[in-house]
Amino acid sequence: YRKALEARRGMPARSLDGVAISLQTNAEKPDDIRRALEDGAEGVGLFRSEYLFMQGEPPDEEAQFASYLEALDSLDGAPLTIRTLDIGADKNASMLSFASLRQSPNPALGLRAVRLCLREVDLFKIQLRAILRTSAHGRVSCMIPMLTTDKEVKAVRALLDETRHELEKEGVAVNGKMLLGGMIEVPAAALALEQIGRHLDFISVGTNDLIQYTLAADRIDEHVAHLYDPQHPGVIFLLKHIFSTAERLDLPVAVCGEMAGDRRYTRLLLALGLREFSMQPRSLLEVKKIIMETDISAASQALEQWLAGDVQKKGIQLAQHLDQTQLAH
Ligand code: PEP
Ligand code: MG
Repeated sequence: YRKALEARRGMPARSLDGVAISLQTNAEKPDDIRRALEDGAEGVGLFRSEYLFMQGEPPDEEAQFASYLEALDSLDGAPLTIRTLDIGADKNASMLSFASLRQSPNPALGLRAVRLCLREVDLFKIQLRAILRTSAHGRVSCMIPMLTTDKEVKAVRALLDETRHELEKEGVAVNGKMLLGGMIEVPAAALALEQIGRHLDFISVGTNDLIQYTLAADRIDEHVAHLYDPQHPGVIFLLKHIFSTAERLDLPVAVCGEMAGDRRYTRLLLALGLREFSMQPRSLLEVKKIIMETDISAASQALEQWLAGDVQKKGIQLAQHLDQTQLAH
């Protein structure tokens, strides 16, 4: 099996009906990137910067800059998407001793990610400085996690502008055109994508959180794991809405949650319209194999058939239906 996967290493990720798909990698540290490039990743779609913050004391600007630059250098000119600090809830923040992070009654619904960063502006600006400095050295974009409203995007843009001017005044090089993207992980942000997307250069769907919040099932609580289902019709409708709205807005869209690296759902995401996947390095070849074995137009027809209802009534799950119709095709 491994050999069959490795045979696809140098091949383009192209579907049976000739659609080119972009495969990117998720990374937490520069080391993750090398292996992903060997397996055909075209860049880093999600650099989880919180890894740096979970090692002890919060890293200063120089430590962050050095880490982002190392990641960028290991990419040989390919793009790096740095996600701003996403800490809180399941991402342990015990070493960050902010008053605003004291035990929240419901951390998953509390002050995490961009909510925390907009409260702890001094900490956030240090990170924005490090990201902006890195942007002068290659293809870097910045991505905001856990967006709920367009006000958050505007607040981050204002802070980015302020930080950029400060750096320019100090004579430090930055890329004045660095792209700003947002993660769609909160169901309301998905439903209101029309409003939020207008202020963003690209979006990436964080299915890990989006599924958790849509199904009200904690992503790390084994007692409700049976409810945590990427194929729940509620999740499918939400994803469909995201991809069709993004297409209408001409907004580049990727998926960087675990679903993008799970070959059981590759066909489903292709049928829904996804063309850019970002995943853990070890899934790249498996996902590429499924892409190369999929006729996307047949998968899209099968999706429409499933959405129309009759197949659902028979109790057949969507991914299974897509596999069966693909085989028949
Ligand atoms: C997600 O929520 O799908 C995601 C990619 O972010 P994280 O898993 O880091 O919360
Ligand atoms: Mg998330």
